[in-house]
Amino acid sequence: MKKESKVLVILTGGTITMVCDRESGALLPADMETFKAFVPELFTSDIHIDMEAFTPLLDSSDVNPENWARMAHAVYDHYADYDGFVILHGTDTMSYSASALSFMLENLNKPVVFTGSQLPIGTLRSDAKENLLTAIEIAAAKDEDGNAIVPEVTLFFEDKLFRGNRTTKRNAEHFSAFNSYNYPALAKAGVHITYQPHLIRYNNLTLPLRLRVQTDQNVGVLKLFPGIQEAFVKQVLNAPGLRGLVLETFGAGNAPSSEWLYRLLHDAVERGIIIVNKTQCNTGSVEMGLYAVSMNLLKAGVISGYDITTEALLTKMMYLLGENPDNPETVKELLQKDLCGEVTIE
Ligand code: ASP
Repeated sequence: MKKESKVLVILTGGTITMVCDRESGALLPADMETFKAFVPELFTSDIHIDMEAFTPLLDSSDVNPENWARMAHAVYDHYADYDGFVILHGTDTMSYSASALSFMLENLNKPVVFTGSQLPIGTLRSDAKENLLTAIEIAAAKDEDGNAIVPEVTLFFEDKLFRGNRTTKRNAEHFSAFNSYNYPALAKAGVHITYQPHLIRYNNLTLPLRLRVQTDQNVGVLKLFPGIQEAFVKQVLNAPGLRGLVLETFGAGNAPSSEWLYRLLHDAVERGIIIVNKTQCNTGSVEMGLYAVSMNLLKAGVISGYDITTEALLTKMMYLLGENPDNPETVKELLQKDLCGEVTIE
């Protein structure tokens, strides 16, 4: 690694930025100096590290699209000054933020690595230090030509680097809190960090970074279940202002064959609501038409989400609707395209 690598660490909040209050035992956000004192290694490495923090620091349950835009801006505003970026973030909604930033930072050619921890930075068995230090190393990693090894929005946790928009939080207990069910890890960290260049996306180096932070939050998720009632589905589809819906279906994209469900979905599509079929299974893809019980969805005008995660689909919808407010056909078309590695379309 070249000595002159510079990394900006952006603290947004989450357990990784918290310390345990000795008196009450409660977790509180640490100020930047306290945080730095827990990781003296940060300033003895070959990498030049700067830090900036959100004030206040946020539990990731409070992170919203405005905060995604702020994170994207922080990268964009400092893009020329650093080789890579690390975003410290709560684990609960990290996959949503990582997905959102992958869409908001178009033509990205530098690493943006999300990480966090299951235990606060100051506790004895904390995973915070290792996650942070490895994420920084990945953000700084360059090849012999000085180009970033992983110029994507990624998420590093425990020992794996994943494409951010392929991840899902899978575990509230174990240190391996995330998984990427439908795309392999981009790197594994052991004694050495082993990168998988054939799995990494490389954008055209001559294109400038573009910031695209408009979002439309009039979207929702409807999870189907056996026994779901017409009145409930009707209520959801008639939510005021609704423009896009993630329909979480069974197996390969199947739904009850009731006539009323077909009618409600068809009416909603006719009213301009974009409905995307996302399987409730973590692994595998939607295949509409494979079973008779998905034919109604096809006929109603529901489109396929293939193997995308709910986190990536929701943020992609918000982003596309925000960027193309008057052009639903473009939104539909782009929802069925791979924009930055978030979906496999064969
Ligand atoms: N509630 C915390 C958050 O997401 C959990 C964590 O960071 O692991 O901000």
